[in-house]
Amino acid sequence: MSTHFQIAVLGGDGIGPEVVAEGIKVLRAVETGLSEVRFRLTEHSVGAGEFLRNGDPLPGATLERIKEADAVLLGAMGLPSVRWPSGVEMTPQIDLREQLDLFNGVRPIRLFHESHTPLKGYGGTGRPIDFVIIRENCEGLFSERLTPRAPGRDYETDTMKITRRGAERICREAFQLALTRRRHCTLVDKANVLPSMAFFRKVFDEVAREFPSVTTDRVYVDAMALFLVQRPESLDVMVTENIFGDILSDLAAGIIGGMGMAPSADLGETNGVFQPSHGTAPTIAGKGIANPIATILSVAMMLEWLDHPGTIRGARLITQAVERVLADPANRTADLGGTLTTTQMGNLVCQALT
Ligand code: ATP
Repeated sequence: MSTHFQIAVLGGDGIGPEVVAEGIKVLRAVETGLSEVRFRLTEHSVGAGEFLRNGDPLPGATLERIKEADAVLLGAMGLPSVRWPSGVEMTPQIDLREQLDLFNGVRPIRLFHESHTPLKGYGGTGRPIDFVIIRENCEGLFSERLTPRAPGRDYETDTMKITRRGAERICREAFQLALTRRRHCTLVDKANVLPSMAFFRKVFDEVAREFPSVTTDRVYVDAMALFLVQRPESLDVMVTENIFGDILSDLAAGIIGGMGMAPSADLGETNGVFQPSHGTAPTIAGKGIANPIATILSVAMMLEWLDHPGTIRGARLITQAVERVLADPANRTADLGGTLTTTQMGNLVCQALT
């Protein structure tokens, strides 16, 4: 008897459907070798395209069905040309995080081949880049983004909200993860200037005492931007609030080859949404050249999170297949300086699964 998992698939906008198609192809390919698990996929229309069709980027009925799935595989959502009257873009992926309370943003950063990084001196295995950014997803500077604003004012404010509950649970997730890795956890904050960040640091220090085997350090966000470029090999797990995590995730993706290389998971108590860290990349959408590796690695994260012996094995097989494909520097999509199409890269990963 196989265990069945229900996966909600949300291609979204721009390159989202293109990279998700490759993620699904790899999922189906790995499934053939896993007799103990089966995946039922249901596709849902969400995002800016859905808004243009039906007036809501994340319809309530769709959200209910997404909630019932065992996991969600998402491409990317939003388009620069489709905005709310306030001028901000539609970001149903952020709505989804908040509505499902997916507070734990997991952003693994791993350099697969030295030729992918713009940094010097990361050849061989001497200085591997392999760390995880844990981003608080539901508070921080995003907390009042949906609060209605009076029109015509000559100022606007956004609030950096850090609650004890929010800080405690995200710090605990980071420490738990560090226990499974190199046992080091770095807090990234701005505690020298912002009282909200001094509070975040206080909570981090309290949680740290629950994990005496994990070493810690505390780095201001501006210094972390520097260290990410100067010595990324020194990082293991870093934990930070929402907007700092948003910005540092893109910088971190840049040092391993770009957005097409960075997978992610947004996790709550019961739900998990897995998606590439990138957006909809409208300028390359429809050209068939987007790098699907971030999505394929997000599929691996999803399988690991489903936490069944079969899915855990599937996650390992996908990661190994990606390692094998990317070990050959000729296997590169355009973002990495190569000529492979999205589909060709997906096919190579499928072939390497065998
Ligand atoms: P969002 O605001 O939705 O997070 P963004 O503004 O960060 O999106 P992205 O869509 O992530 O922008 O694109 C940033 C850059 O990375 C663009 O130059 C884009 O073309 C490139 N990019 C993003 N994803 C990929 C990919 N899978 N393959 C190749 N290039 C990509």
